[in-house]
Formats: sequence, structure tokens, C-alpha cells
Amino acid sequence: MATGNAKVCGVIGNPVGHSLSPLMHNEIAKAMGLDYIYVPCPVAEDAVGDAVRGAYALGFAGLNVTVPYKQRVIPFLAETDESVRCIGACNTLVRLPDSKIEGYRGYKGYNTDAEGLFRAMRDQGMEIRGRDCLLIGAGGAARAAAYLLIREGAASVTVLNRSQDKAEALAADMRRMAAEKSTAPPGSGMPPEGLSGSITAVSALPPERWRKLPGDSYLAVQTTSVGMYPHVDASPIEDRDFYKKIAQAVDVIYTPSRTRFMEFTEAAGGRVCGGLDMLIYQGVAALELWNPGVKVPREVVDRVRKIMEEQLHG
Ligand code: NAP
Repeated sequence: MATGNAKVCGVIGNPVGHSLSPLMHNEIAKAMGLDYIYVPCPVAEDAVGDAVRGAYALGFAGLNVTVPYKQRVIPFLAETDESVRCIGACNTLVRLPDSKIEGYRGYKGYNTDAEGLFRAMRDQGMEIRGRDCLLIGAGGAARAAAYLLIREGAASVTVLNRSQDKAEALAADMRRMAAEKSTAPPGSGMPPEGLSGSITAVSALPPERWRKLPGDSYLAVQTTSVGMYPHVDASPIEDRDFYKKIAQAVDVIYTPSRTRFMEFTEAAGGRVCGGLDMLIYQGVAALELWNPGVKVPREVVDRVRKIMEEQLHG
């Protein structure tokens, strides 16, 4: 139960009524006995800056940012983390402490989607370092996955996306990230800690030319919206032979809990993980940024997953 001293956080977006974040954060607070409360904040199109300044004035410790403001919020931030600069979108604001000299300091922006994906994959024993990876899609979720694959030192990444220009643009951005990583000083957001001397090799390939892929045990991250409810019978690549090339895969879609892409991968002998854990862990990562010293234990994550599954799938 929140007291008068509760740490207050929330989500801004438009709309926010469908957001599962209030349920998730308040369940974690209850399970862990945190004096913490999380509220939905619908914000009008022209009021993003006012909302950020207003939240600061009201003492909010942090905010999540959802559609359509993940890019639009960036000009209103005092600082940005490496994750925001690489992904180009921000989903978490963390209050900077007031300064006696500067007064209002505002918020630092983070993107916790990549960290959410990382923790979800780690739970499933899906190691990225040194792996040949497929990144299917080139939209917003793909950019978070792209940052993660570079950050964690994948050996190679092939981007497969319906629109080849977007695949090429994302591949070019990833090459820049990989080059920056290889020259980054220790202690910066992206230390040069990949495999000794290795830089992730990045390429783009039209999905219909998947037979050109040389490997047969890829780690795949499916980030398109193909197969999402209600179009549950679709998969971004329909040819079942493609799936023989995948050893492990994550589909970031969380409705349905088991996508056609996951079914095809499993039927071909691969291991799979759905998108709900990424969703949960991006929230957990934000909560941990707002509550320094708090580490959400596995049993609380399991409890929250059950509640969210009920909410999503009945
Ligand atoms: P987005 O920016 O709109 O990108 C959509 C992607 O899907 C693009 O690569 C697009 O290809 C592709 N696509 C859409 N329709 C297609 C079709 N008919 N055939 C082939 N490709 C198609 O969307 P997003 O924000 O990245 O979200 C994508 C999915 O990720 C959604 O299902 C969303 O719910 C999920 N997601 C999950 C999490 C999580 O925490 N688990 C977080 C973020 C997003 P083109 O470039 O050719 O248009």
C-alpha cells in the first residue's frame, strides 16, 4: 500500500488505457512491499513537453513513454543514455536529482526494450556473444534488438525485412554502432568488450532470398508485426524449410503467446521464446532504474507473468 512518501511513476502516451504497465508495476510493488505507485497519464499531442515538466514539478521519480511519443519526448530530456542514442527512441525517463546551482534538472532518457529482450533471452539460455544472428524486421522493435545484438557482440547479423530500403538503413546504422563500439573507451555505454578484435558483420537480405544464408543454426529475433493478433495464421517467411536454419528464436510478439513463427521454428527442431518476458523485463528494468538497490527476484517475475497472461489471454 502506497503511503504519503510513496515514490510516484507513471506512463505517458496516447492512448494509455490499454497499457499493462500500471498492472505490472503495482503488482511488483505489492509483491515486494515497495512504497511505490505507478499511474497512467494520457497526454495530448501538443502537451508532451508540458507533461515532462509537469511530472518533474509534481515530483515524479520517473516515467515510461509509449506510443506515439517515444521519439517526440527526446527534445525534452536533460540527458540521454547510449541506448536512446543508438535506438533513436526513449521509453523510460529517470529523474535527475535537483541541483542547488542549476535548480530544475529534468530527466535522463533510457530505452529499456533492449535490456528487456536481453533478460528474456538470458532466462532461456540464449547467448548472443559470438553467434550468427537473423534480425527479422526493421521497425521500432528491430532497432532495440539491433542495439542489443551489437552490444552483446554477435558475430554476424543479417537483417531480413519486407522493405529492403529500411533493412539497408538499419544495417548501415548497426555498422556505425559496431564501429563506435570497437573504438569506445572503457566506461562508456558501449565498451569494446566483444570477442577480441571482432566487430559484428552486418548485412541485409530480401526475405525471399533466405536460401542464400550460409548458416544452419542461427539465433533469430522476429520483430515484425506479422502473426500478431488477429492475423495469427501469418508468418514473415512462410516456407517451412527456412526454419531448419534456426537453432533458437525469440518472437517479440506477445499476442498470441505462441505465434505461427514460433510453431514453425519448433516444428523444425529449434527452441523458442515469446515476447511477454521482454515486455515484463523492460518494465522491471525501468522499475530498477527508479528504485536504486531494488532487484526484482525471479519469483516476482513469475507471479507477474501469470497475472499478465490471464489479462492478455483470459
Ligand atoms: P513497426 O515499427 O511498425 O515495424 C513493423 C515491422 O513489421 C516492419 O519491419 C514492417 O516491415 C514489418 N511488417 C509489417 N507488416 C508486414 C507484412 N504484412 N509483411 C511483412 N512485414 C511486415 O512496429 P514495431 O513497433 O517494431 O512493433 C512490431 C511488433 O513488435 C509488434 O507486434 C509489437 O507489439 C511488438 N513489440 C513487442 C515488444 C515487447 O516488449 N515484447 C516491444 C515492442 C514491440 P516494413 O519495413 O516493410 O514495413
